[in-house]
Amino acid sequence: MQGFVREDLDLKHLEKNLLFDLPIAAMINLKSIGFCGNFGDPLMHPELDEIINFFKKQNISIFTNASLRNLSWWKSLGGKKNVAVTFCIDGIGGTHELYRRNTSYEKIIENAKSFINGGGNARWQFIVFKHNEHQIEDAKILSNKMGFKNISFIYSDRFDTNNHWGVVEKNKHLYNLEKATKQVTLREKTNTSMGKKWWLNLFKSRKQETIKCIWSEKKKIYIHSDGTIFPCCHIGSILAGKPIEKSLYKKIIKEWKNINLNFNKFEDIITGPFYKEYFLKSLKNSPHPVCIETCDTHNGKLVNRAENYLKY
Ligand code: SF4
Repeated sequence: MQGFVREDLDLKHLEKNLLFDLPIAAMINLKSIGFCGNFGDPLMHPELDEIINFFKKQNISIFTNASLRNLSWWKSLGGKKNVAVTFCIDGIGGTHELYRRNTSYEKIIENAKSFINGGGNARWQFIVFKHNEHQIEDAKILSNKMGFKNISFIYSDRFDTNNHWGVVEKNKHLYNLEKATKQVTLREKTNTSMGKKWWLNLFKSRKQETIKCIWSEKKKIYIHSDGTIFPCCHIGSILAGKPIEKSLYKKIIKEWKNINLNFNKFEDIITGPFYKEYFLKSLKNSPHPVCIETCDTHNGKLVNRAENYLKY
């Protein structure tokens, strides 16, 4: 929203060979693959079709702005029975484009129709802000009419720091995005006033050993576009986070290369000291701040998010 790309963000596509070299035949419990778009939209990947075709035996979930590709591509994707697409549509009409800058609502709806007409399993994810909360009921009706399998409403955790965020383009402030009326942020849950460091209160109020690593429990891992294997996408986000988050993670991993597919085999990483020892110890003794913010069983974002899902 600040209108620039972070300088330390490595802009690259995940190399398909890193995926093709995974020991898929031995991964008998690998049932699902998600293209979550942590740092970009999966539809931007030039070899997406090849990658989708590689994971024939797995269920594939794609999370996308869906403003890319043409109608025939979408129709053909709809014919793939192992693929489900979550369309990220935050409002109806121009409202959607206030957050999803430079996407086209009209094009997304046409793409969704084509995917659904092709037999595709379509889900709608709607991030609720103040500017679109009045469209919730209309979105439910439209979702039903168009044939989406379901629609879910979530909040953006960016409001944990402020109740509003400016949208800036070429150093010019255009407008503010504001949190939804019903959203209760972590900052509010920890009784911290706006502008104060809410996470300090979160850390102080935290009891010992209250981290429930949701991704480990679900036996999920996250492969970043540079080939690094992270325990989850939340901790993977530190690559575009604050420098302190990166340096604290380095205290746990010590050497990034050791968990990168460009330098190690997948099986060696997963059975190596980081996953078998360092990471587990960190959760117990000195969790990374992102783990506390995300998976603290009292106030973590995933707990918060589960509550938020119930509100609509
Ligand atoms: S944030 Fe930390 S504790 Fe939570 S799922 Fe990710 S790695 Fe596990």
